Amino acid sequence: MYMAGERVQQQGGLNVNQPTMTVGMVEEFIKTSVNVLPTIPVVALKLIKLTKEGASLDELSHLIETDPAMTVKVLKIANSAYYCLRRKISSIKHAILQLGFDNICSIVLETALFENLHFRTNNPLFNKMFFWQHCLSVAYMSKALAEELDYHNQEEAYMAGLLHDIGKVILEAYGKVSYSNFIGTLTKSQGLIIDEELKFIGIGHDEIGAYFCTKWSFPESLVLAVKYHHSSFKHHGFNKKDSLLMAIVSLSDFIAWTQGIGSIDILRHPILHSDIDEFINIGKINLNALIKRMDNDVRGVAKFYGFAFPSSDIFRENLLRANISLSRLNTQYYYLQKELQQQIDAFTNMKKSITSPYRSLDAKEIINNTLRAVQLDFAFDRLYMLKVEEESRMLSVQDYVDTVAHGEVLAGLQIRITHQMEGLLACLRNKMPALITGINTAEAELLRTLNIKELGVVPVTSNDKLVGVICVDNIKSKRPIHIYELSPVAIVASELGMALEHANTFEKYKMKACIDALTQVYNRGTIEELLDYAFKEAKAKEIFDLSVGILDIDYFKRFNDMFGHLAGDSVLRLVAATMNKLSRPSDHVGRYGGEEFLFILECTDFMNALSYGERIRKEIGAVGEILEKRFHGHPLTVSIGIASIEKEMLKKEELIDKADLALYAAKNSGRNRVVGITGKRKMCPTI
Ligand code: GH3
Ligand code: MG
Ligand code: MG
Repeated sequence: MYMAGERVQQQGGLNVNQPTMTVGMVEEFIKTSVNVLPTIPVVALKLIKLTKEGASLDELSHLIETDPAMTVKVLKIANSAYYCLRRKISSIKHAILQLGFDNICSIVLETALFENLHFRTNNPLFNKMFFWQHCLSVAYMSKALAEELDYHNQEEAYMAGLLHDIGKVILEAYGKVSYSNFIGTLTKSQGLIIDEELKFIGIGHDEIGAYFCTKWSFPESLVLAVKYHHSSFKHHGFNKKDSLLMAIVSLSDFIAWTQGIGSIDILRHPILHSDIDEFINIGKINLNALIKRMDNDVRGVAKFYGFAFPSSDIFRENLLRANISLSRLNTQYYYLQKELQQQIDAFTNMKKSITSPYRSLDAKEIINNTLRAVQLDFAFDRLYMLKVEEESRMLSVQDYVDTVAHGEVLAGLQIRITHQMEGLLACLRNKMPALITGINTAEAELLRTLNIKELGVVPVTSNDKLVGVICVDNIKSKRPIHIYELSPVAIVASELGMALEHANTFEKYKMKACIDALTQVYNRGTIEELLDYAFKEAKAKEIFDLSVGILDIDYFKRFNDMFGHLAGDSVLRLVAATMNKLSRPSDHVGRYGGEEFLFILECTDFMNALSYGERIRKEIGAVGEILEKRFHGHPLTVSIGIASIEKEMLKKEELIDKADLALYAAKNSGRNRVVGITGKRKMCPTI
């Protein structure tokens, strides 16, 4: 256990091998002396200890009553509309009896921490609402998990969850490098948060949190949960109860993260330590029910305190960012594995394994590799993958491997699914392989079309949904196909289904990676790529009809300042939607910076680009008039700079620079206008 002012003297259940920290060591990282840190209110401290020991009704009410401010708050909350109680509650004891012991403890703890700790920072990088929501989510998830896993003290699990990241608050308020300083560095790094903390702050939030929890004499189980919520603990040999609590908090932290509710709004993948598996059988937990319960509880608290948590859009954006960074890691790993595999293959000249096709994330490649691998292993003359076209009840050939080049054209082949095709229907319905031998006219007709005697059909399913069919035949060798030959193909087909599902997800994410999450137009990277392509094409063809515009919202900062960041976000969305609405299929719109958009107009000369810019400006002005009610005294207007490609231009950057110069002129001449520059001439659209 950590002790202030001295090297630690071990007490209670903490393992003697624990690393220890002295005041001097901690003071290296914080601005003030450890002894003057007034972080946690007395009532919360005592409450935490009381609940650990099992407090009586009298003890709890007495504790709350010693703090007049807290008494008032609890009564106010108990009488609030949230609880809809018919009789007024006038004493703490009555409140405990009405609302329950656990509820009152949560109110006291949340109020104490919420008001005293979480609002000490004013740095926007440390998003207090985000942090608070994360702590609450982990607290409620820990409680729910404790119940599910029969952990003896659910209230303690709740507290451990609520406190697990307390170190971040301490660092934010007192760190030499504050937590928001640290968050500011994160965009430039890739590593795990906990490693980066060590790099930038010098100490992890888990370590410093645990240090102070010890200093405040919190129960050891809580200290351990705070200390080990990111790291391995198994080897310390703690008792079963404490270990289970550590696993519960760790897993809850991870689950909250998967829901987009991290403690800071730059999300990084957390560690899910394998130690957790020793204490919790994750496969057996009803995650869906737990997440719903956590959501409900957190929503209840938000309603209860009367504040709005950040919108789900922000969570989603965060989750997307985190997934992108995860997928980058995965990709690195994948290429590393691929290189390794290539080396192994080169040395051993191994026969291609049937599992290797799934290294790709491109659906076409996956299918082709699969068909080839099956061919190699099972030596059918021809293999083809049929795609299910649900609407038209057709199967159409997506890809094929034809080893005998028999001249039968598989490309473009379509098979209509009719009631008579019993074998095929059985395969599709039961998701089992089948052999079509032509037992009725419809099937005989199909075999005739394919010029074969037998056709093996194997369903390809993903999540129990049919996505296609692998067909095999021996058109040339005429070797009979046995149904048992199709069983191993079915195994490959099920792996193929999964691989296709992954490829599908990857495609979706790839698409999302091009799109600005807030405004749903292209992001900067993508719009620049598109412009690069269009610019090079125009140069190569020597057709100079490519134009661009840069649009900037006038006095946007004032929207944020007057109406809040979320209102600012909705203005950005509106502007983007208006631009999208007015654009033609060949135009491209992208978010170029905070409140700046770039649009590319292909096949549009300078004069036409000017009038297009004017149409956008007017349309956004019209939207602004509607919004006048919401943003009183703040008309929404935009300034636009237009430029078109000129013969002398060598790089797309010159085109952008010119549009930017025009934008600057539009701003300087009073805003809410369109200015274009062609050659050296400035022009405004004729209005
Ligand atoms: P001007 O007319 O000269 O363009 O003034 P302005 O206030 O629009 O421009 P300025 O560059 O001073 O301020 C831009 C503001 O845009 C500052 C920044 O906080 C805000 N901003 C940038 N990105 C976002 C965002 O994603 N959401 C919100 N709500 N605000 C953003
Ligand atoms: Mg943490
Ligand atoms: Mg602006």
